[in-house]
Amino acid sequence: MCSHDNHLYAVAVHGGSGHYSRNQFSQQERQAYRTGLERALRAAEAVLKTGGAALDAVQSAVAALEDDALFNAGCGAVLNAGGIAELDAAIMDGTTLKAGAVAGMKTTRNPVRAARAVMEHSPHVFLHGSDADAFASRQGLTQVDNAYFVTVARELQLAEAQARGETFSISKFGTVGAVARDRLGNIAAATSTGGMTNKLPGRVSDSAVIGAGVYASRHGCAVAGSGHGEFFIRLAVGKDISGRIEYGHQTLADAANHVIHTSLASLGGEGGVIAIDARGTIVIAMNTAGMFRGVLKESGEPETGIYADEALSRSPASL
Ligand code: ASP
Repeated sequence: MCSHDNHLYAVAVHGGSGHYSRNQFSQQERQAYRTGLERALRAAEAVLKTGGAALDAVQSAVAALEDDALFNAGCGAVLNAGGIAELDAAIMDGTTLKAGAVAGMKTTRNPVRAARAVMEHSPHVFLHGSDADAFASRQGLTQVDNAYFVTVARELQLAEAQARGETFSISKFGTVGAVARDRLGNIAAATSTGGMTNKLPGRVSDSAVIGAGVYASRHGCAVAGSGHGEFFIRLAVGKDISGRIEYGHQTLADAANHVIHTSLASLGGEGGVIAIDARGTIVIAMNTAGMFRGVLKESGEPETGIYADEALSRSPASL
């Protein structure tokens, strides 16, 4: 999937990749996911259409997905082996290469806002654990009890994973992410996640690791990933895709497809990415059966899709 829109804004979001079978979701559930993606696209659009920055757009899109209990980020995040939601997020500006990241947060309602605060209001890039929550609180970000993030569906998922003796539940990665290009040609990326079901407490996701599940450089591209994070970290997926463009002079499509279908696949890793370059080209690549994803371009309407072999389209409820 590929398109060019010079001097126009564009945004792509994802709600996680996974091995989704055709009969896994009811029509109603599919629509609910698509509505959530559309809401995130509209949140980004509200920023971009008034001339706002790509950085603000990706933060708004990811915050909207964090607030939607269907997705594995913020409210509705998956649970660690102790039944606790431990949240990771990151944000990066492709123009300045400034970045902020947080890991292991337990009380900050919107971790992506905390990542942005780390980027803008600390001398650091990466904060973790209770100190990250304390920092976010000092920045005036809303704090909640950890129970706020926990849903019945995630408790059931954890119980099932533990009954099967799974360390991770790899059939579905519901991490969220966004990439955007604003009218000035700036690009940015943001991600947020609860990580993987039944993960060891303290495990950090690729979604919080700059260069792995998230990266942005105007010389290359902005990337937000979803998949088995250990592989994304080992391969520095985001930086590799961007670097292939910057130093290897590959197209965005060639770079993203190579890293997902060759590098990731050859290690046995699974997942996908959404990516955008400074011209507004959007590429989505995955080696899973699906990825909740959506795209919105200037003067266009939100288009979403779930399965790998399906073209993005307007969802029935948005027509
Ligand atoms: N990448 C995430 C992780 O490994 C999982 C996901 O994409 O949902 O924590």
